[in-house]
Amino acid sequence: MTLPASSSMLPGGISRRSFLRAAAASSALAGLPFVTEAHLAHAAIPKFAPSDQGIHIDANENPMGPSEGARKAIAAIIPNGGRYLFDKEISFSEIFAKQQGLDPEMVVAYPGSSEPLHLTVLAFASSTRPLVVADPSYEAPIWAAQAAGAPILKVPLADPKGAATHDIPAMLAASSTPGVLYICNPNNPTGTTTPFEQIEKAIDSVPKGSVVLVDEAYIHFSDAPSCIPLVKQGKNVLVLRTFSKLYGMAGIRMGFIVGRPDLLQKVTPLGGQNPLPITAVAAAKASLLDPELVPTRKKIMDGLREENIAFLRSHGYAVTPSVSNCFMLNVRKPGKQVQAALAAREIYVGRVWPAWPDAVRVTVGTKDEMAAFQNAFVQVMQTNTAGLEPAPLHPRLRQTPFSHLS
Ligand code: PLP
Repeated sequence: MTLPASSSMLPGGISRRSFLRAAAASSALAGLPFVTEAHLAHAAIPKFAPSDQGIHIDANENPMGPSEGARKAIAAIIPNGGRYLFDKEISFSEIFAKQQGLDPEMVVAYPGSSEPLHLTVLAFASSTRPLVVADPSYEAPIWAAQAAGAPILKVPLADPKGAATHDIPAMLAASSTPGVLYICNPNNPTGTTTPFEQIEKAIDSVPKGSVVLVDEAYIHFSDAPSCIPLVKQGKNVLVLRTFSKLYGMAGIRMGFIVGRPDLLQKVTPLGGQNPLPITAVAAAKASLLDPELVPTRKKIMDGLREENIAFLRSHGYAVTPSVSNCFMLNVRKPGKQVQAALAAREIYVGRVWPAWPDAVRVTVGTKDEMAAFQNAFVQVMQTNTAGLEPAPLHPRLRQTPFSHLS
């Protein structure tokens, strides 16, 4: 498309300069690594197993998949697949904004929350503005900070054998000029929450030019209060939401970033101008409009998770007090060995975090999957796992910038 040289505004009120700046920024960033839970989970499993083989409780996915309503909505929209349907994309974000009591310009939809997560780190972290993260926590912001050339300050979780919360005072003390303070609530991989007052304190305390990024990917599984009301109060916080977890849409892709328009304007020009898949918009809208979905699935997850945690504790193993769809299990020996031994039985549990080398992350799967896991775990713990090591990466992952994850 050639633009009329005389016009400084594009349709939609976007200025030519900001359009070109955004395009330049997007292409400059195109080669940067973009690491998601799926990449990290695949890179960590000892054998790159086909998804239809064995039991995959390694990537915090939801085996229930999209709701019945979401499936019907996808089927119904397919005949319109030749169109972009921007109006549906806009009204979908407006529904979420209305439900949350937000102005529509405080909500931007993306195909999943990974993209706005990365873009936020790229927008606010730099060589002079570090990323501050808990340890262990979700690693994606670390990879983005590396791409941005920003220092990474890892702060151990407080009370690691108990509540395993973010240590907010220590995170605030880690840097006087942070770019991004990342808080994952509930935390991946521990499934534990950090008290709202503590998060609010972090938001109120970070200096100008810094932002607190609260990742609420797993919030629907818990009773933890959301930080979205703090956005409404005009605070210095960006909140991430995804449809990949409770809503079971990891493969369909939909998510939101929520924040003050002036903060979002630093993030959105860096990427995300692609139209959203209309199937994902339709499915996510149907999910939002189903009032039973969150409470029903939360209850199912509560039951499965508590049964598994009780089983493991009754066998003498320490487990984090998760309120999410995953937990950390202390196996009292190198976690990678246990992971490899389980993989040999085609049970794929999650990765090991260097800060807690004797623990593996377990995603809560279906009742049958968890019965198979329990059975295999008890057997594996009676065998000698010494020397077991993850097998080499799948060739596709070897070609990526994060191949050294193995
Ligand atoms: N944030 C956290 C903490 C996650 O664990 C994940 C995925 O596992 C995401 C964000 C991103 O998920 P998606 O890009 O599928 O929305």
